[in-house]
Parts: sequence; structure tokens; C-alpha cells
Amino acid sequence: MGENNTKSRRRCSFCGRPESEVGFMITGLNGYICDSCAQQAYEIVQEASRSVHSSGDLDWGELPKPKEIKEFLDQYVIGQDDAKRYLSVAVYNHYKRLMQKTGEDDVEIEKSNIIMVGSTGTGKTLLARTIAKLLKVPFTIVDATVLTEAGYVGEDIESLLTRLLQVADYNVAEAERGIVFIDEIDKIARKGDNPSITRDVSGEGVQQGLLKLLEGSVVNVPPQGGRKHPDQKMIAVNTKNILFICGGAFDGIERKIAQRLNTNVVGYGATKEVVKIDKSNMMQYIAPQDLKSFGLIPEIIGRLPILTYLNPLDRTALRNILTEPKNSIIKQYVKLFAMDGIKLTFAPEVYEYIVDKAIEYKLGARGLRSIVETIMMDVMFELPSKKSKKYEVTLEYASQQMEKANISRLQNA
Ligand code: ADP
Repeated sequence: MGENNTKSRRRCSFCGRPESEVGFMITGLNGYICDSCAQQAYEIVQEASRSVHSSGDLDWGELPKPKEIKEFLDQYVIGQDDAKRYLSVAVYNHYKRLMQKTGEDDVEIEKSNIIMVGSTGTGKTLLARTIAKLLKVPFTIVDATVLTEAGYVGEDIESLLTRLLQVADYNVAEAERGIVFIDEIDKIARKGDNPSITRDVSGEGVQQGLLKLLEGSVVNVPPQGGRKHPDQKMIAVNTKNILFICGGAFDGIERKIAQRLNTNVVGYGATKEVVKIDKSNMMQYIAPQDLKSFGLIPEIIGRLPILTYLNPLDRTALRNILTEPKNSIIKQYVKLFAMDGIKLTFAPEVYEYIVDKAIEYKLGARGLRSIVETIMMDVMFELPSKKSKKYEVTLEYASQQMEKANISRLQNA
């Protein structure tokens, strides 16, 4: 009874509402806070830390050096050393450019946008996402395919910057220092080598539009994106200092590379110093003219002066991806089970088996997750209701689960 009385007298020290009118009350030393005031307080803290984060100028001492950026990427992304080095330097130089004082001399550091070429599922987006965790400037990933969707349904090129504005909380000055990762850039390539093909105006038109963004100009960005809000007020954004990182699979570009290398080899036919070509990884020989043969216009290629590539993932890479990254799939499962108080282990052969299956079904790194998912489904269903405190996934169990599974479902994953 006594306790009930105190309870009914408890009021939120912030809004004054009694306990009966709020969801729940948190008790402090000398007062109380209700759930909705706590929520509001949380939002205020978030807001405040965001504005401190974004309004502060870059501090030279705090900026990660290229080596540190790469070391950070190494924790999450397996292999791809070349791409990591290029990205690290590019990001570092981007900071330098933002900090340069103009007027001291006539040297103005211009930006060097980047293009990463590599088969699907080799880590392009992962690299971009990982770098975003570390960045001190607004960053966003956008997909170039939204621009080409059948003519008038496609979005205007300026909408690529909408997301950047959003992550910068519509602070234009902040957005103008940001980095944009444009995924699937190869999808706006002109189809076929013949520039006079009239049916494929879309690709080239989109590329011309993109050129404007890449080279730096003031563009009007729809703050809500798309074309759905015709009367929205546009926001002018200068792209001069925005760094663009483009990524694409460029399916079939290996053939263009091979063709070019062959022609070269014929050209030097008389000399014996023909460099041995590693046919299993043609991507490493990529050069700007291959992008042109693929259908990017020369002006775009000129605006993406840093060209780097991702290696195809071999067995060892797939095996490492499974367990090594800081948030590897296996570590995620171990954590899931640990939350139920269960110690999950895998027999070492299971890892090899998973990699075998990923290769067999040509699923690449993306398939690793769906394979593990398939193997673990039944255990995840049953185990939390059982008393056991540990579980080992054996090869026998893994293969039995895989045989049971519908492989076509896996392949569509
Ligand atoms: P892409 O953008 O090149 O098509 P992603 O970066 O989206 O490929 O990769 C798909 C998934 O595969 C990632 O989420 C990650 O789990 C895994 N993956 C791919 N490449 C790597 C890598 N080099 N290191 C670690 N994981 C990788």
C-alpha cells in the first residue's frame, strides 16, 4: 500500500506528468524521467553530436593517413590490395584538397575521381561501405541503374546528389565536401562500339549528364529526389569538391583487354620480351582504352583518372572471407548462438565444404552467406528451445542439410 502511494505520486521531473499518464518511468537519484522525455533527450543528444561532427573543420592531426585507412579496410575486406591502396590515397588526398588554402600560391589541387572495375561480388560495395565508417565527410552510395530505367521513368542525373544532401542533413556546404560512390557505372555504357547507333541514346545521354557532375559545376538537386515531386524547390550544389568513386562489373571487359593485349603482342612480335599474361586475371591489365571499348565516352574516362581493379576471388580468398573479417559470416553466427548461451563451433572441414559449394554453384562470396544460412536453418530453429550449451556443426550434418536444400533457391540468392 505504502509503495503504491509513492508510485502514484511519482511524476516525471521533466514534463511533470504522473506515472499513470506515461509509458514507463525511469528512476534517478533525485527524480524521475518518463519514456517520452528520455526519447526526446536522446534525440537532442544525437542532434547535438551530429552538428559538432559536421560543423567542425577537418583537423589535420586527426585525419587517418593512407596506411591507416588501408589497415582499417584490411579488417573488413579480404585481399584487393591494389584497390585498397588507391582508395586510401584518394580519400587522403580528398581531405588535403578540402584543407588547401587558396591564394597562397597558384597551385590548386584538383580532385581525382576514381573508377573501380571488378566482377560482381568481389568487394567493391563492401570497400565503399567500409570506408564510409571511417570518413569524416558525408558519404553515400548511389546506383547508376536508376538513371537508365526505360527513358522517362529514369531519374534525372542530379538526383544522385539527393542522398548526399540527406546524409549531410541538407547542409549544402557539408554536402559539397562529400564523397559519392556510384555503383554499376557500367550500366550506363553505350551498347556496342558504334557511336552512331541511334537506338541507344540513353546511355550516352546519361553519360553526358554525369560528366557535368564529375567535372564540377553547380547543379540543381531535387531535395526529395526523383521526379515524383514536380514542385519541390531545387537546391543548388556545387560539385567541384565532391569526390566521385565509381564501381562496375563491366561484364565481358576481359575480352576487350585480351584483344588489346593481343594486338600489342602482335605489334611487338619481333621482340621476344613478351610479358607473360596471367589469363586467369585479365582485370589487372585494365587500361582506360578498355573502358572506351566497353562504351564509356572518352570525356567520362578523362574525368575518372584513377583506374583500379578488383581481383576475382579464389579459393583461399573465399575461405578467408568466411572467417577472417571483423564481422565475418561465421563470427556473426557464433554471436547469434552466444546470445542464447550456446557455444557454436564448426569442424574445420565444414569451411572447406562451404567454399566448395560456393565454387561449384558459381555463387561467389555472396553465396557464402546463403550456404551457411541453409546449413544452419534447422539448428537455429531447434536449438534455442533445447538445454544444450554447445553445438558443433559437423561435415556430415552440413552436407546432409545442403542435400536437403533446394539448390535453385540458393542460386537465385
Ligand atoms: P560488388 O559490389 O563487388 O558486387 P560486394 O562488395 O557487394 O560486391 O560483395 C558482396 C558480399 O560478398 C559482401 O557483402 C561480402 O560479404 C562478401 N565479399 C565480397 N568480396 C569480399 C572481400 N574481398 N572481402 C570480404 N568479403 C567480401
